[in-house]
Amino acid sequence: MLDRLFEKLDRKSFLHLHIWKFVYRSFFKEYARLFFLKAMLKHPSKTAAGLRDYHRFIKSKENLFPQYKKFLAIPNEETFEDQIGQQKTRPMLGLGFCLKPYDPQDNTRSCPSGRANHDCLYLENGETQNVCQGCAIYRIAKKGMESGCSVYIMTSAKDIAIDFLLPQINKGLFPTSILLLCPYSVQAILPSLFICGMDAFLLAYDSGYCKEYKEWRLADLGDKENRTTLSKESSEKLFGLISQRGVSDTSPQSFRREGNIFYPE
Ligand code: SF4
Repeated sequence: MLDRLFEKLDRKSFLHLHIWKFVYRSFFKEYARLFFLKAMLKHPSKTAAGLRDYHRFIKSKENLFPQYKKFLAIPNEETFEDQIGQQKTRPMLGLGFCLKPYDPQDNTRSCPSGRANHDCLYLENGETQNVCQGCAIYRIAKKGMESGCSVYIMTSAKDIAIDFLLPQINKGLFPTSILLLCPYSVQAILPSLFICGMDAFLLAYDSGYCKEYKEWRLADLGDKENRTTLSKESSEKLFGLISQRGVSDTSPQSFRREGNIFYPE
């Protein structure tokens, strides 16, 4: 019954929001508790300002929902592009683990670093196998390295909170990011990005993505076989954003891992 009530609130865009059912389903989950305690309760004024900006952002969009299916910039495209154009800002590229190649019948067609984890042979030591040549993470990270972008392979909502949302709200370590997500996650992550004060460019997957909470939650727990892809339009947008930064002054040749984040060096 409560499920139907929150579904109805989403359908009616109650208070211009589409995350009622997600919030209700997330209520007792570890990732929500963690974010509530360590971000919202610890930083009440940033939370109040973030929620106010989030609400303004949603209200300013006439019809936000279809836009989740393409891309969305916080606070807007122009400001975001200005921000990342400044060489001192190193945007983090957040790439879903579901982009990794995966074939349950054939190991040679699957990522050698495994599936639902933050690992990648190429990011860790520059090595590649044949399967890596067709992997989106390899292509994006290689370009990102030239432009001085750090790379993070996203797994669960809890790890996302620990690895970059909390470091951003506590210490401002990740002021800008380019995140590849399923359209469903785009709407779910928006409030936390505003609360943490992170400017972001969100690109939604074109295929293979989770469409509703149950699927999303399974993927959050590491259970996802479908491989996601970006549309041609989104890929062009992504590579355009990365290239806009030009080539990094330091000409990085490899990545250095700190926790789960890979920094070019
Ligand atoms: S580039 Fe990294 S993520 Fe992609 S297949 Fe190779 S090891 Fe896996």
